[in-house]
Amino acid sequence: GRPPRFHRHLVPCGDGQRGPGGPIRVLQWNILAQALGEGADCFVRCPPEALSWPERKYLILEEILTYRPHILCLQEVDHYHDTFQPVLRSLGYGGHFFPKPCSPCLVVHGNNGPDGCALFFDQSRFELLESVSVRLSALLIPTNQIAVVTKLRCRATARCVFVAVTHLKARSGWERLRGAQGSDLLAHLQTLLHDHRHPPGTTGPPDAAAPSLIVCGDFNAEPSEDVYQRFASSPLRLDSAYKKLSRDGATEPPFTTWKIRPSGECCSTLDYIWYGRDSLQVDAVLDLPTEEQIGPDRLPSFHYPSDHLSLICDFSFKEER
Ligand code: NDP
Ligand code: CA
Repeated sequence: GRPPRFHRHLVPCGDGQRGPGGPIRVLQWNILAQALGEGADCFVRCPPEALSWPERKYLILEEILTYRPHILCLQEVDHYHDTFQPVLRSLGYGGHFFPKPCSPCLVVHGNNGPDGCALFFDQSRFELLESVSVRLSALLIPTNQIAVVTKLRCRATARCVFVAVTHLKARSGWERLRGAQGSDLLAHLQTLLHDHRHPPGTTGPPDAAAPSLIVCGDFNAEPSEDVYQRFASSPLRLDSAYKKLSRDGATEPPFTTWKIRPSGECCSTLDYIWYGRDSLQVDAVLDLPTEEQIGPDRLPSFHYPSDHLSLICDFSFKEER
């Protein structure tokens, strides 16, 4: 039989007062592209059988179905059309996928196409208003990193939420590129939010309430990095949900990814769920597995299909002022 799944707990936060319209559960996860896991990544302590697609596909879908998020933001998706889109559509999700222009999956023998970001939403909870694919630029030069931004309307409250998913450039030495990509994404979001409140072609005062914003991603950046600081200090007034897990409420978790490559062990915090702190509150956050649960061979493993951990939190709307 399979080893047990990680036992993780939803940790309540805030004052327990839920906002209008009920919870909005968001799941952020870099699921590990199948071509990269079996190819370029070199997870030397992971048994090859644990990296097979039939094995991993089952665990990835099990994780998603265990938590049944209203909004699902995925990176490194290279099985959208043949797996995630049909399975999740049958469960009532709408989705949008945008592949990387020059995905590293494409140079892996036997690949299943390019990897990219996918954004799914529960169609009983949200109505799709608009979805855009964004190729991120750095100093006006298009890069190989992308984002998907989807505008949703909550069916219960009619309030609008913009949700973005992104995967920034990996590896050390690329901190300035990540900073520029983050700034470009923030600029795109500012434009979309502005156009929502002041539809092009209209003048005069804004006719729409301020929409909410959620940005999920594998930023490939520790909290000390420039791109993190740009998000934390943006005029969009964003905060990072997983800080709520810490005792002081101001510290990111010690890791969101933990793996062993021939070059050594990598245990770092790279994944985030940002939210607009004026319009949303965090009601609960799923805790992270312990070092003992993860085990000496780290991730991925027979217990867990990706080198990145899923981040899950429950938001609710703040009362309109
Ligand atoms: P990135 O540098 O952003 O990383 C791509 C993937 O590699 C990410 O999913 C990342 O995972 C993973 N990764 C990070 N660190 C390592 C590591 N030390 N060893 C192995 N994998 C790692 O890639 P780009 O989008 O900038 O693409 C560049 C890559 O594309 C090149 O590395 C090259 O191999 C490949 N390439 C593809 C071509 C094509 O035709 N498609 C042509 C030329 C090159 P995570 O985000 O989880 O850290
Ligand atoms: Ca990866």
